[in-house]
Amino acid sequence: MKAAPFEHHEPSTTDEAVSLLESLERPTILAGGQSLVPMLRFRLARPETVIDINGIDALDYLREEAGFLRIGALARHADVADADVIAESYGSFADTAPLVADPQIRNRGTVVGSITQADPKGDWGSVLLAHEGAVVAQGPDGERVIPADEFFLLPYDTTLEESELVTEVRVPTPDAREGSAYHKLKRKTGDYAMAGVATRLVFDEDGRIETAGIGMTAVDITNARARDAEDRLEGERPSSALFEEAGELAAEESNPESDEHGDASYKERMIDVLTQRALGDAAERAGVVKRTVSP
Ligand SMILES: Cc1cc2nc3c(=O)[nH]c(=O)nc-3n(C[C@H](O)[C@H](O)[C@H](O)COP(=O)(O)OP(=O)(O)OC[C@H]3O[C@@H](n4cnc5c(N)ncnc54)[C@H](O)[C@@H]3O)c2cc1C
Repeated sequence: MKAAPFEHHEPSTTDEAVSLLESLERPTILAGGQSLVPMLRFRLARPETVIDINGIDALDYLREEAGFLRIGALARHADVADADVIAESYGSFADTAPLVADPQIRNRGTVVGSITQADPKGDWGSVLLAHEGAVVAQGPDGERVIPADEFFLLPYDTTLEESELVTEVRVPTPDAREGSAYHKLKRKTGDYAMAGVATRLVFDEDGRIETAGIGMTAVDITNARARDAEDRLEGERPSSALFEEAGELAAEESNPESDEHGDASYKERMIDVLTQRALGDAAERAGVVKRTVSP
């Protein structure tokens, strides 16, 4: 099926895009188009106006700056997979990028578009939650920084205003004793997650866990934090027994639904296992633990 007719705009600056968002009838942003174009073609989305932001060169970046990893609205999944800074310091991002969809989608789809789409099966939302990251939005009244914890409301629904453009997502640059990881279970290459877990661990000088972040994919109505598991980890020294407890708590906090891929109890068990694995990788990458066995 072809998309219903719509007006098409191609701004070349962020200000231009924001004033179009404010002044036009029922506008929708087009970034990588990997979610929006199928929805247009199936007429699940029928915007009056599409604002294509691909000509705004200033939004095409991925860099460390002023204490943050900043990923601009035109950085593609493949850009994350290819970036040296990611390979060196951001284990969870390096794990996630090659697991998103297939190469064609990774070459066009953007990290920001994925997070803004707010599909609970999307991988990046979990990574953003685990890192206590934020979404940066530009609107008619200026810039707004929305903590990841306050961004996701419902499936495909966020706290973004209709007249706001997301310009970037950001996470704090890692401490010296920090590690992160992402583990995802899917039926086959290219699939969305049946379950996924992102972890981030920051250790103090004494080798205790100072900060723990755990984000879960596809097991609730949005990407979700496993707060009880995080609380259990903080202040403790890493061990297999501790990570087992955290895995069990994360599974208890998840709310998966039974579907054709598996029943809810199976997905809960998978959250338990994936949490333990991702915590083990994060601790090892932080340089405080040498693992010999995986759960
Ligand atoms: C077959 C298939 C498999 C997939 N598998 C996975 C997977 O395994 N894991 C995963 O995480 N994702 C997966 N995806 C989704 C993919 O990651 C998309 O790229 C992503 O969801 C949307 O990003 P996009 O840049 O293509 O956004 P678009 O499709 O252009 O936009 C998506 C939505 O976000 C809005 N939007 C985009 N950018 C902005 C912005 N800067 N400001 C405000 N609103 C904005 C748009 O208006 C639209 O509503 C899959 C998609 C397909 C088709």
